[in-house]
Amino acid sequence: MADPEQTISQLHASALGQLELADTIEAVEAVRVDALGRKGKLNEISKEFGKLTPGERKHIGKLLNTVKQDLEARLEARKAALETVALDARLASEWIDLTTPAPGVRPGHLHPVTQVQRELEELFVSLGFAVLDGPEVESEYYNFDALNIPADHPARDMQDTFWLKDGRLLRTHTSPVQVRGLEMLGPPLKMIAPGRVFRNEEVDPSHEHTFYQLEGMMVDRDVSVAHLIYFMKTLLSAIFHREVTVRLRPGFFPFVEPGFELDIQCLICGGTGCPVCKQSGWVELLPCGLVHPSVLRYGGVDPEEWSGFAFGLGLTRLAMMRYAIDDIRLFASGDLRFLKQF
Ligand SMILES: [Zn+2]
Repeated sequence: MADPEQTISQLHASALGQLELADTIEAVEAVRVDALGRKGKLNEISKEFGKLTPGERKHIGKLLNTVKQDLEARLEARKAALETVALDARLASEWIDLTTPAPGVRPGHLHPVTQVQRELEELFVSLGFAVLDGPEVESEYYNFDALNIPADHPARDMQDTFWLKDGRLLRTHTSPVQVRGLEMLGPPLKMIAPGRVFRNEEVDPSHEHTFYQLEGMMVDRDVSVAHLIYFMKTLLSAIFHREVTVRLRPGFFPFVEPGFELDIQCLICGGTGCPVCKQSGWVELLPCGLVHPSVLRYGGVDPEEWSGFAFGLGLTRLAMMRYAIDDIRLFASGDLRFLKQF
């Protein structure tokens, strides 16, 4: 073999040269494996020991150990130095100045349905209406019976809901507040009752198990369909910020007589026909009518003396129309990316 002493000192020098250039912990590790690893260059030399005399073997072995120890120490030192540099860099980049003022509480904002609700409340209060609240867990009596919907009435099937074990239910509409309002305040009465309602529905882009309505009712002497139309036009012009044209079509709802479907002339096409109004020029918006005499009686009011109109506005539906939202499920999704747009 070549002069082992010379080979060792060459390997030593070359390893130190590489170490000088190693500027990452990984690079230092590579130098260590190359020089000192089990298959490293210095260990290769040990394999040639058989060819040496005992005297040479002792001398070379000692030299080899010295070189290994020296390299080991220098590798460790280099590694420690690099770790310090990395830590300093991290501290510099992650340093936080605790004396700068905090960014403060991010202002939140109201849910789009709440915004529409508050706007309508303000409008109705300005027209002299009271804003009433009713329980979301309602009795069968107020939700159905007192609204002229007896147990065998088909309207009950259209309003399937969630029943509690004690016989109460999650209200299917805000209409129970009509009777509660009459009982509590008596006529003359102008009231609205916005709130959350529930249906046991197959959920899809236009149906939810939980949504919002706004009930409205006016009971006074000689209230007619003309009053109803006037208030509806005022309401809808305020909502859509422009004059709207409405029409009434006969519609059947047990708690009104006569009952109507109120349509507005399509705001997209102005009545000439488009996909939104299915080419008809009209969009179905809300059920309404004159309060059924039975409902007045349930509320303790004499229908010979008093009459009234009532309407049920889908607040969620209205918010969808106003903001052109095509999936009702977005409202309760809790997705901030959606909510932040309003
Ligand atoms: Zn249209």
